[in-house]
Amino acid sequence: MVKLYLGTNLKMYKTISAVKAYLNDLQKLTSDIDREKMEIFVLPSYTTLAAAVDAVDKRYIKIGAQNMCWEETGQFTGEISPLMLKELNVDIVMAGHSERRHVFGETDSEENKKIFSALAHGFTALLCIGETKEEKQYNVSDEVLRRQLKIGLYNIEKKDIKNVMIGYEPVWSIGIDGEPASAEYAREKHAIIKDTLKELFGDEGTRVPVLYGGSVNMDNARQIISEKYIDGLYVGRSAWKAEKFNELIRSV
Ligand code: PEP
Repeated sequence: MVKLYLGTNLKMYKTISAVKAYLNDLQKLTSDIDREKMEIFVLPSYTTLAAAVDAVDKRYIKIGAQNMCWEETGQFTGEISPLMLKELNVDIVMAGHSERRHVFGETDSEENKKIFSALAHGFTALLCIGETKEEKQYNVSDEVLRRQLKIGLYNIEKKDIKNVMIGYEPVWSIGIDGEPASAEYAREKHAIIKDTLKELFGDEGTRVPVLYGGSVNMDNARQIISEKYIDGLYVGRSAWKAEKFNELIRSV
């Protein structure tokens, strides 16, 4: 059976009360959806994580963190460790979102340390990758994606790859100024990603869910997810109202 993955990153947008209300609504609205066929996940901000985990039944909605330090403890002011996230009982840890890479200057090797640590601590690790507008213009997108995957997943053992998801989010397609990739473009890049995963991890690599993200909306969700090699959608703005996310989920 083909399972689809539908997730959203709430970025720095909702307070505790707003997250609780959002998750209560989303869980109610999507309660009839067969979770064997679809996994739904939400990544709210750090300060809301405890309330978020409390608000949902994790069989219906998985909760994840938007970032994590690779170290368990130490002199890392402002960071949150895997032990702290473990204590909160979150399921997913994301690394490498374009805003972490391009606003906060994170590198591929730092994303690798986060992914390695997330897996070592029993989380599902969501590695985000994606080329910038400039890289696309210079026609090096495929090399960039391969590099981000090869470094981001460096030293990850084959046995652990089943706990990895990839979010392919072309940087030029994200946010208010972004324009969605065409379904064909997304399929082409997902094919490169699947091919690289196969090269790195053999058949297990081809089973890693690869989600497309970047200006997904009601008008393009179904078309994008119908493409070969696309296992799910990672949604921003169009998912931040529970009713809208529910409508989008049902449109695919
Ligand atoms: C994102 O920032 O990860 C994202 C996919 O945002 P949007 O859907 O709003 O482009």
